[in-house]
Amino acid sequence: MSHFPAFFDLKDKPVIVVGATPVALERVRLALAAGATVRVFAEELSAEGRLLVASPGVAWLPGAPADEDFARAALAFVATGDCDRDRAAAEAARAAGVPVNVMDQPDLSDFIMPAVIKRGDVLIGISTGGAAPTLARLVRERIERVLPARLGDLARFAGALRERVKALFPKAEARRAVLERLVDGPCGDAVLAGKPAEAQRHLIALLNTEAEPREGSVHIVGAGPGDPDLLTLRALQSLQRADIVFHDELVGPDILDYARREAERVNVGKQKGKPSASQDEINAALLAAARAGKRVVRLKGGDPFVFGRGGEEAEFLERHGVAVVAVPGITAALGCAAAAGIPLTHRDLASSVTFVTGHGRDGAPLADWKGLARADRTIVVYMGLSAAGEVSARLVAEGLAPSTPAAIVVRGTRRDQSVSLGTLAGLPALARAHAGESPALIIIGKVAALAKRGLAETPSLEEAA
Ligand code: SAH
Repeated sequence: MSHFPAFFDLKDKPVIVVGATPVALERVRLALAAGATVRVFAEELSAEGRLLVASPGVAWLPGAPADEDFARAALAFVATGDCDRDRAAAEAARAAGVPVNVMDQPDLSDFIMPAVIKRGDVLIGISTGGAAPTLARLVRERIERVLPARLGDLARFAGALRERVKALFPKAEARRAVLERLVDGPCGDAVLAGKPAEAQRHLIALLNTEAEPREGSVHIVGAGPGDPDLLTLRALQSLQRADIVFHDELVGPDILDYARREAERVNVGKQKGKPSASQDEINAALLAAARAGKRVVRLKGGDPFVFGRGGEEAEFLERHGVAVVAVPGITAALGCAAAAGIPLTHRDLASSVTFVTGHGRDGAPLADWKGLARADRTIVVYMGLSAAGEVSARLVAEGLAPSTPAAIVVRGTRRDQSVSLGTLAGLPALARAHAGESPALIIIGKVAALAKRGLAETPSLEEAA
């Protein structure tokens, strides 16, 4: 370790900034944010600099600082953009016993500036010992992605409760357990999700159940259509905290790789040669894991609440007193359309879009085709390959032109995606050509003609029709 990590309390303390480069101005802002009073020594100021020194807590002193200017300063930052002037200022600061940082010159600096991640009062500093600032920035980007945006809210929430928890739980061990459950459980989840009323509810329960083991929770998470880059940041955060992940067959191994390494993975989807778990069995398994105090992720393809039965699971769990967090995902229609180059609505071609399923509950009748058969509408059919014949016949019978473009997207957004374009009349044949391929999505409407093709196996409009 080449440097000592520490956070300075600069509240109401004098800080000196020498120079008016963009980096110098950044140091002024940072020192102000920490509550310091700042004196800026610079010959000239940019318009931006002038604005900054007009804010309360800052004074501009034209010219270079004299040695005595450094007396009693808490910290000094030097960033003039000129080597000689940087060196002179650094020497003056050091002679006055003031710790100094010189931009891009670790050799002249007593301390270096970390790459910083900020969430309210939660601050993370990253240092590579001054050797590789670019690497530090890379690390910062990675950490940024997994830290919830409302982490600062959670710090404030927990901070405000510290005294109360202290009074309620005089024993240090019990207190620590409660504070831990406060930030790392349903209560903390609710704060991070921006639901203060729900957080209060969990808080009251928590403060009244000292002896109870940690409460589990279930995050119902959308994994998107297949490309791991289409996971949301929140989905990633849930996966990285999971103790156990119950996933569908649709969720591929490259997405499961993003789950916490120690998390148990359970496939509850349809698998060849095995009877698939019933919804009741899945519900029971989720409930049991949550009741055992685990952080459960229920991971579903696309969005959990679009033909995904996420609603049924959430309802069941909430009925049994388990905290549920819903994390939306990019549904197949959006992912596939984007990957195929199809805009689902278009000012000239489609003024609305409807998502329907090709399989009703227990073979129940399908959508109300009469309402759907409109030339200015896009229809996206999920699970529609085997029902393509019926879909096509019903829409044509309701008056939609047989020449209406229709596309089939197989394994949309994945590396082996294929897009085939045909017409409504040719849809049954096109679907037969893809029989057994999975998952597949049908997009019907004028916008489908805009699909980007050029894939070898894709039949032309005429062939398919
Ligand atoms: N909840 C999911 C849908 C589950 S139903 C979502 O929001 O996307 C399963 C159906 O989704 C499949 O039969 C198929 O029609 C569609 N689907 C899901 N992922 C797909 C993909 N990558 N490519 C094409 N279709 C997909």
